[in-house]
Amino acid sequence: MQSPADFAGRRVTVAGLGVSGVPAARALAGLGARVTVVNSSDGERERAQAAELEELGATVRLGDGDTLPEGTELVVTTPGWKPASPLFAAAGKAGVEVWGDVELAWRLRGPDSAPWLAVTGTNGKTTTVRMLASILQAAGLRTAAVGNIGVPLVDVVLGEGQPDGASYDVLAVELSSYQLHWAPSVRAHSAAVLNLAPDHLDWHGSMAAYAADKGRIYEGNTVACVYNAADPATEELVRAADVEEGCRAIGFTLGTPGPSQVGVVEGILVDRAFVENRQQQAQELAEVSDVTPAAPHNIANALAAAALARAFGVAPAAVRDGLRAFHPDAHRIQHIADLGNVRYVDDSKATNTHAAEASLAAYEHIVWIAGGLAKGATFDELVQKSAARLRGVVLIGADRALIREALARHAPDVPVVDLDRTDTGAMSEAVREASRLAEPGDTVLLAPACASMDMFVNYNKRGEAFADAVGELTARDH
Ligand code: ADP
Repeated sequence: MQSPADFAGRRVTVAGLGVSGVPAARALAGLGARVTVVNSSDGERERAQAAELEELGATVRLGDGDTLPEGTELVVTTPGWKPASPLFAAAGKAGVEVWGDVELAWRLRGPDSAPWLAVTGTNGKTTTVRMLASILQAAGLRTAAVGNIGVPLVDVVLGEGQPDGASYDVLAVELSSYQLHWAPSVRAHSAAVLNLAPDHLDWHGSMAAYAADKGRIYEGNTVACVYNAADPATEELVRAADVEEGCRAIGFTLGTPGPSQVGVVEGILVDRAFVENRQQQAQELAEVSDVTPAAPHNIANALAAAALARAFGVAPAAVRDGLRAFHPDAHRIQHIADLGNVRYVDDSKATNTHAAEASLAAYEHIVWIAGGLAKGATFDELVQKSAARLRGVVLIGADRALIREALARHAPDVPVVDLDRTDTGAMSEAVREASRLAEPGDTVLLAPACASMDMFVNYNKRGEAFADAVGELTARDH
């Protein structure tokens, strides 16, 4: 099944509802496929989604995600389903292929579809993809930030070229490791792996499997494979990939770039990759101060975005203009307020230790608010690397003892306030305690290194609670 017409009358099973299952099922039904959606849970939300899809002619089976429907010719899965799920074992036995929603989108592309500039990595994907889209826009290209960022690729691809749909010159595509696992034939124009740190290992089974899935993003690239020179694992993935002839490996570095790299020289982002004579020439792209926030990890994101844009032929001035026009999403190193010469920063999106390490590295003296659901993580390395910057720590959430123990081992002199409550109101107390520990010039940083679901609906709500709590602080607290 390679073109939209091939799907008419075919029996396709969609595994899962939700943000990618519903669009996939809708698209398949629109192509005339005989769609059955299977979903393990059977709640109110699922029933509402099922009703919508049934109106389009799909069959929806709630409460059983394990049994392969009779006569299935293809399974299209949503990214969350684990590879070990019984449904896929049954599909394998029956000789039925399993595609992810991204694979489906890729197969539905027409000859005039826009090329993909793709980004993955443990952290920084959304930021980088949005920076990239901003740069491409500044270059006058018709583009959008799509994929894992929350815009289903199936909808984008089917909309392309339609009278009522948008047409694009190029797409900035965020891909998660789950999506890449189920997307064997995607071939990006150019792609970047930003970094690799242990995450989602319960899903992938091992670090090696996780890395291999991320590495798929480089397969078949035609112009550039962009890697992080400070993270050798990303360069190894480039070496392992089978790319088109002439495709180049381009590194990004926070230091002085070598030939075929982009990097930083005296506060300037420079390109030594897409210039005529890379042995001798370097091209200025932008200033470090054009990037918001100008934290080291975010400069790295900007360099990766710049490299992808340059691989697509974007001019240096558009890189600068696009970076200047970019503003980060909420809860990602978001500056909330300055009170009594103390800065309050919300990085609620730092839901793992790798992300928290990056934001802790961005400030000199920090009162750190941390804790939540650890998802199996350990905190020794994070605490060791950050200890010298910590003025104090306020711990919240279910797994805070793990961080407290790591602090006792590696930063025994840093004062720690351990809040023994997991109700939502705990954030107000946490911020009050943090403000007491802070000295003028310090930063109070919410970078929990943990997921939020023990106390909040999601990381957005956690960040909002932080901002509200900062708002409640009175001058008396300083
Ligand atoms: P993703 O889409 O990969 O989850 P985001 O751009 O939403 O990434 O950022 C997630 C978190 O990771 C934020 O807390 C941010 O501070 C942190 N982060 C962003 N870029 C990087 C990076 N290059 N390295 C490490 N951490 C990063």
